[in-house]
Amino acid sequence: MNIRQLIFLLLLFTCLPPVAGAGSEDPIPIVATTTQAADLMRILTADLDGVQLTPLMGPGVDPHLYQPTESDIAAMNQARMVVYSGLHLEGQFDAVFKALGEQGVTVHALSAPVQDAGFIIGGFDLSDTLQDVDDPHFWFDPRNWRLTAQDLAERLAEFDPPNAAGYRARAAAYIEQLDLLYAWADAGLRSIDEGQRYLVTSHDAFQYFGAAFGWRMQAIQGLSTEDEAGVGDIQATVDFVNANDIPVLFVESSIPPDTIEAVIEALRAQGRSARVGLRELFGDAMSEPDSFGGTYIGMLAQNTLTIMQSYQCMGLEVDILDWPADLEPKPPEELWNADCDA
Ligand SMILES: [Zn+2]
Repeated sequence: MNIRQLIFLLLLFTCLPPVAGAGSEDPIPIVATTTQAADLMRILTADLDGVQLTPLMGPGVDPHLYQPTESDIAAMNQARMVVYSGLHLEGQFDAVFKALGEQGVTVHALSAPVQDAGFIIGGFDLSDTLQDVDDPHFWFDPRNWRLTAQDLAERLAEFDPPNAAGYRARAAAYIEQLDLLYAWADAGLRSIDEGQRYLVTSHDAFQYFGAAFGWRMQAIQGLSTEDEAGVGDIQATVDFVNANDIPVLFVESSIPPDTIEAVIEALRAQGRSARVGLRELFGDAMSEPDSFGGTYIGMLAQNTLTIMQSYQCMGLEVDILDWPADLEPKPPEELWNADCDA
């Protein structure tokens, strides 16, 4: 089914009886597109019966390429609110969001408060045809994610006034957690010598992460995964890694590993020692909701540990701090014990 047929389906659903409104006993149906959006909704509505959450994208799904299915369209049409990441991350949803907005569904972009605050990184090449687009991966700076949490809590409070105080209290408690996470990750990532802080990945998801923690980025693909990487991209990355003496390259969980593997193969053919990171990094999708990497805090912490340990394995000085006592969830034991030979 193509996007035109989906829009047609969406308009067809408007003939169905309207869903229950605010003030009724029924839970408020809310749809979240990405794994990050669903995690934040779960945190802000924890222990609350008044909201019925439908997450759309699963673990390991690439949101740039994800096409809404018929059941996604049906869920969005029955929803009173659709929570999405924004800045065209969900590249295949633009027409659907427009149609939903026109029929009165609240379509809430998590990136909006970050954009309003002027913290969006722009000026990137998306492809040969599109230039100067905004970088959609804003959530990788925990300081941005706290703005997002605060803003979503206010939006939910408007929707569901009887529970307004609860949304605000959960957001306030979560923001304290995000501050602990930021301080922990910042101290560790900045303990690596400044001249060595390069993060080489398959696609350009980590500019905000780099800006947050003082690292420079290099990606084989551009900001979106819609354009495939070519031989020129591979060679440019090999040259960059050589010029900057970078020991580790990272594969992302939502992207096939072949481009990074091609770079490492080319480096080894030149007699250089370079390795792939100890684990895949979570890029645009997180892990299963009930796992450590399925929460925003766990995802960011696991990425941070993976980067620090991978550099440590290559002989660099890294000061990995103890996990803050009050920060939840706690990383599982196997994440702390890096096996450099894996
Ligand atoms: Zn991306």
